[in-house]
Amino acid sequence: MTLLIRNVRIVGEARASEERSDIFVQNDIISAIGSLGNKKADEVIDGQGTYLAPGFIDVNTDSDHYLTLFDNPAQEDFLKQGVTTIFGGMCGASLAPLLYGSLESIRKWGDIHCVNVGWQSLGELLDILSSRGLGVNFGTLIGHSTIRRALAGENFRNLTKNELKVFISTLERGMSEGGFGLSSGLSYVHARETSYAELKALGEVVQKRNGVYATHLRKSGEDLLNSLEETVKLRKETGVKTIISHFQPFMGTEELYDTALKNLEELSTDRAVYFDTYPFDASVVPLYTLLPLWAQETNLETMAANLKDAWKRKKIIKELPELSGDGLIVASAPGHEPLIGKNIETLKEMYGVSLGAEALLQLMRATDLRAIVFYKNIAANLLTQALAHPRSLIATNAASIKEGRQIGMLKPERATNTFPKFLDIVSLKRLMPLESAIQKITKTPAELLGIKGRGEIKEGNYADLVGFSWKEGGASATEIKFVVVNGTIAVQNGISKETLRGRILKHQS
Ligand SMILES: [Zn+2]
Repeated sequence: MTLLIRNVRIVGEARASEERSDIFVQNDIISAIGSLGNKKADEVIDGQGTYLAPGFIDVNTDSDHYLTLFDNPAQEDFLKQGVTTIFGGMCGASLAPLLYGSLESIRKWGDIHCVNVGWQSLGELLDILSSRGLGVNFGTLIGHSTIRRALAGENFRNLTKNELKVFISTLERGMSEGGFGLSSGLSYVHARETSYAELKALGEVVQKRNGVYATHLRKSGEDLLNSLEETVKLRKETGVKTIISHFQPFMGTEELYDTALKNLEELSTDRAVYFDTYPFDASVVPLYTLLPLWAQETNLETMAANLKDAWKRKKIIKELPELSGDGLIVASAPGHEPLIGKNIETLKEMYGVSLGAEALLQLMRATDLRAIVFYKNIAANLLTQALAHPRSLIATNAASIKEGRQIGMLKPERATNTFPKFLDIVSLKRLMPLESAIQKITKTPAELLGIKGRGEIKEGNYADLVGFSWKEGGASATEIKFVVVNGTIAVQNGISKETLRGRILKHQS
């Protein structure tokens, strides 16, 4: 198979050029770049002067957590926004390795009963995904909580020496089978008590294999800087390449976030800590995370039982955020689907209460805390700074859910529009040159994660390509014209071809 893409302006090329050029792809590899207009090929795309970039790399996605890798392998929400590579296994939870075959650690996102777990090791999982096929390339980190919960169960205690040994060998095996590193979800209830010593021991293992450590910080709010300090210390002491996951400027802690951005910028290049963020002002969170910290304990059942206790309920309601308007929208509510799409105002009416906090509490009780919500808690002005930050990466933090076969979950805009929106903001606010913006979503993450042969347009690299229109100064919105995955056209004229030409990516130590 050969593909000729004619008349494009290449961004993210190894040798930069202003000229329009052509690209020749043989099977899955870019084989020539230059003036190739007369070359014969099985398929030809006339780029009509549009930009051509390497396929975008989304460093933090939830398609594994929501199990849509299985029921929606085409993953077209990513493809249609120019993303050709996604990463999963974030926030401490991955689909493998499973020491005892339980997917408990991803239960907070998806219904774990809708998939047959036919694997235990990471290698087995990747083989299964590879034989089923995916529309995008997929790589995964290994979830800290996934392994830890298999070892320590639901108990919050330090691991024994022996357990840590088992953890380390499990992590080593997972990385040797293709895992790109380790992720932690330190604010989640099952990982909150994890000691720095444990993280350091694991970080050393990841570093030894040149992997990456992604962390959902232990604390936000007042303790943000302490959590950041812990992460930077780990980076310094172990040398492990680090990404802070969905590091968003939450309202109420703007000053701390501003300081955090400065601290991250001051770290020298060899100690750089990266972070990922998305260009929208709402986050998607499990409902229970809105409970005061003291009421988040053990598991959802215990937390829901707390809500049945009148005395605790009274205490909880005083500490819930007071929301209004679209400040909160129900995105999913298993078993209570009519609640989906309802905002806090509607909930107030429904429950006949006057306060947002009361409506929130009623929602928690009605759903036994199993809902997921869109929560508008991000400061827009700081978000722009974060997008422009030299250490920021862009990520959807979302899953690609198949149209018409909803898994009872509203799609946040970031699931379908994160990357075009980022390029729109770059244009509108003149954040940086287009070349730098493209680098931030291609070459930089490829190098950081150790993805071989992708992230740059050059001869010999895989042909993951995206054609798009874009204008400096916000004259028009970014539009994705076509997407090529491993040499095959995956999206053209806005239509996904469901070609399943993505590859399972394996880290090479
Ligand atoms: Zn997270």
